[in-house]
Amino acid sequence: MEQINKGKEMDFDAVVIGAGFGGLYSVHKLRNELGLSVQAYDKGSDVGGTWYWNRYPGAMSDTESYLYRFSFDKELLKEWSWKESYLMQPEILEYFNHVADRYDLRRSYQFDTKITATRFDEGTNLWHVTTDKGETVTARYLITGLGLLSATNVPNFKGRDTFKGEQYHTAAWPKEGIDLKGKRVGVIGTGSTGVQVIIHTAPEVEHLTVFQRTAQYSVPAGKRPQSEEELNEIKANFGAIWEQAKNSAVAYGIEESTRPLASASKEEQERIFEEAWNKGNGFRFMFETFGDITTDYEANEAAANFIRNKIKSIVKDPETARKLCPTGLYAKRPLCDIGYYETFNRDNVSLVDVKANPIVEITPKGIRTTDGEYELDVIIYATGFDAVDGNYTKIDMRGRGGVRMREKWADGPTGYLGMTNTDFPNLFMILGPNGPFTNLPPSIETQVEWIADTIKHLVDNNLTTIEPTIEAEEEWVETCRNIANQTLFAKEDSWIFGANIPGKKQSVMFYMGGLGNYRKILKEIGYSNFIFDRELANVE
Ligand code: FAD
Ligand code: NAP
Repeated sequence: MEQINKGKEMDFDAVVIGAGFGGLYSVHKLRNELGLSVQAYDKGSDVGGTWYWNRYPGAMSDTESYLYRFSFDKELLKEWSWKESYLMQPEILEYFNHVADRYDLRRSYQFDTKITATRFDEGTNLWHVTTDKGETVTARYLITGLGLLSATNVPNFKGRDTFKGEQYHTAAWPKEGIDLKGKRVGVIGTGSTGVQVIIHTAPEVEHLTVFQRTAQYSVPAGKRPQSEEELNEIKANFGAIWEQAKNSAVAYGIEESTRPLASASKEEQERIFEEAWNKGNGFRFMFETFGDITTDYEANEAAANFIRNKIKSIVKDPETARKLCPTGLYAKRPLCDIGYYETFNRDNVSLVDVKANPIVEITPKGIRTTDGEYELDVIIYATGFDAVDGNYTKIDMRGRGGVRMREKWADGPTGYLGMTNTDFPNLFMILGPNGPFTNLPPSIETQVEWIADTIKHLVDNNLTTIEPTIEAEEEWVETCRNIANQTLFAKEDSWIFGANIPGKKQSVMFYMGGLGNYRKILKEIGYSNFIFDRELANVE
């Protein structure tokens, strides 16, 4: 395809923001395959996205290694190997570096550059993209791979700046690492991140104090070395493996069960849970055991109770075990770990229940809760993210008629198919609101491929802009809401619904109908719910 900015009507055909899975694949598709001129940005100093920022001890994917990667290049799939059934952060970053070199992606990037504003100009149908360096460039298409778990959430505790020790959010971990040896360390937060950082810092530090607000259900990850034989078998079957994953619901390489829990005897239930516990992986435990754990209260309680019994059998101190046992539904993104509950049997680890005794303030010496002051040298915030729209609302994004994205999303972010938005022509979001809730690389690939196909369609047909109809967007949001409300996820507060950020309006931010169905929908609708060249369409 010909480069379309030849007449210099604009600086670039496309601007891509982000250098994670989404941004990198977009640059490859648009520049290397479609031949467009692309300028890309990331506020980080290099590629990797999530894995550039999250360098905390123990950072690991919980998608198994063979499915936490790109699938678009069969040769790359065959060539690049992995050591264990899960990937640790350094290995993922190495993969991203390899990908960037292989497709020569870095030359399109300007790193250490934050995008602060994006404005759609209706006169020229171009996006004006402004950086924190004061530079503005124009482009026909704007592709945002800003990350859905990327904008950090650091609670605004009173006295935070008075702390005399060191404090870090896990997703802003210094590249050079932090020497925690012999230090008194406090970790706030026990989500997926907290669990990993707790396990990995405990053996190193003098004392680890864990500040837990809500106890979590976690199952073993089942991390193990990957034998050469297994590797070869996976590589020989990659075609079928990816076909299955992309057509399943959560894309974790599992066959999701459709069997209701009630159809199994108590003994059989126990056996199935025990097998899943021994095999490992949170998504496997939640979705491969029975088909109604996330939709039926009794099935959910059976799974929850099984995990609670495991906690009680692992943790030696009954009071600590009691605090670690969750009381709510098993209905957040499922966790898995490599020895979380066991860590609380160590003499140098203690657990503070900050739901019973909330954090009052950060003091120069440490953390004060309602039951006393805990003296610390280092505070680690494993307090999560302003998920999905967090990075969007930081940018001053304006669409048609100057509509501000932040205002449009005041009641919760929305997107048609998780990729497009009315009033924002030629804006293509990767993992934007109301996109699939899955193992993410296959969803990202699905979206980037749809975006590239759509841009090609525009160019081939001499069309300038595309945007969804209001009706289609509203209907899609309603579909997402209906599906989510049929699940128990909607009954638990978590980042999935924006419930973790004080003051953020809770809303349905995902399509929970599964990647297979999502892909079918993309195929079936084609461009029937979109308007091309809106102003011309209005004139006719
Ligand atoms: P990201 O990798 O988040 O990249 C977004 C990039 O955009 C960042 O580099 C950021 O610097 C840049 N950016 C944002 N705003 C701006 C701006 N204004 N200007 C310039 N640059 C900007 N998902 C899974 O499916 N399986 C897992 O096992 C898994 N493990 C995870 C573990 C951790 C610790 C975390 C935090 C997340 C995990 N996730 C996992 C989710 C993970 O974020 C996705 O899998 C995937 O990496 C997202 O890729 P992305 O390209 O969409 O976004
Ligand atoms: P999270 O799940 O949102 O957990 C944040 C933790 O911080 C929760 O325990 C929360 O308690 C606590 N917290 C927040 N504000 C607090 C406050 N003011 N006082 C006390 N505690 C507070 O965030 P996360 O652990 O970073 O995980 C987010 C997502 O990232 C995961 O669900 C997953 O998708 C991804 N991730 C994946 C992996 C992996 O294994 N592959 C690893 C890390 C992250 P409450 O529960 O009470 O709110």
